[in-house]
Amino acid sequence: MGDRSEWRDTSSGSPRTTDSEFSQKQKTFRAYMDHSMQCPDCDYGNRRCDVAQGIWEAWRALPR
Ligand SMILES: [Zn+2]
Repeated sequence: MGDRSEWRDTSSGSPRTTDSEFSQKQKTFRAYMDHSMQCPDCDYGNRRCDVAQGIWEAWRALPR
């Protein structure tokens, strides 16, 4: 699994971004983005592996 801490700024001085501030849909999209950028089987925006496809379908199924 990749390091997911990069977008979770825990340093002081900037507003904390907590999970609760993101909707499930936003979090799912982030997961998709994270996966696409790290997965050798995904060509970002052009090709999706089965995992990415699953996340994508889950994202599309979620309400706003
Ligand atoms: Zn993938």
